[in-house]
Amino acid sequence: MSQDLLEATLDEQFPPEQEETPEFVPVPHALVPHLSETAILLDIDGTLLDLMPTPREVWVPPGLARTLNRLLRRTSGALALVSGRSLNDIDLIFAPDQFPAVGGHGAEMRLATDAEAVDIHAPPREKELKRRLAAIAKLSPGILLEDKGYSLALHYRLAPHAENAIYEAVSLIRADLPNAPIEVLPGKLVCEIKHSGFTKATGVHELMSREPFKGRRPLFIGDDVTDESVFGIMPEFNGLSFSVGRRVRGVDGHFDAPRDVRQFLARLLDDESATAAS
Ligand SMILES: [Mg+2]
Repeated sequence: MSQDLLEATLDEQFPPEQEETPEFVPVPHALVPHLSETAILLDIDGTLLDLMPTPREVWVPPGLARTLNRLLRRTSGALALVSGRSLNDIDLIFAPDQFPAVGGHGAEMRLATDAEAVDIHAPPREKELKRRLAAIAKLSPGILLEDKGYSLALHYRLAPHAENAIYEAVSLIRADLPNAPIEVLPGKLVCEIKHSGFTKATGVHELMSREPFKGRRPLFIGDDVTDESVFGIMPEFNGLSFSVGRRVRGVDGHFDAPRDVRQFLARLLDDESATAAS
């Protein structure tokens, strides 16, 4: 069966998700180069997937994995997820699908779905530091400590009043351990503490130097403060960047919500199908 026939059959079996609202397309599709020249780089939480009260509760809406797999084929493998989550965690969320990815804020990378993960940076976090950061979760019920492998995250979506107390406690620890190579990443109702030697931008830089990403024009979509480092390097690759949920200076456009990103990605496939057919 040809690829097109196969996809047509799949389309019948799995109609596109119905939750999308078709009228809102904030980013002109004309901006996006042909998929054969593009590398699609996507943050996960708050970009592809809606944020949930706790990070364990995120879920992949129907149709998204299929869209990503089709984009992966159309870009000859140049699609990658770029996340603060570890590759293990990313795979659990998208199981049984696997995608190329930059995980742990640039700590690890996988270049192809069937490739082994490459550890770019795997610094041991000091036990004392971890113990003290973990104690911050005791400041208030509702503060959730997540060990992301390469970083620790204190989520306070369920205890927003604790924000100041959390950041004050982190500052105290940093003052006590001035030589600890750590960096604090403020996020959306989350305070993340990671090793300072790498970022999503260093991970994407590394990714873009390898096949099949090398030489392509990256299109990056992200929503959080940690994604801004990637927005910053897109001009180096003549790339495009889009923010989600807020307008960020210097990006090429923005989406209101993850739902709009999912719709945009599905439209990329439709647009190219239409071009191919005409
Ligand atoms: Mg995000």
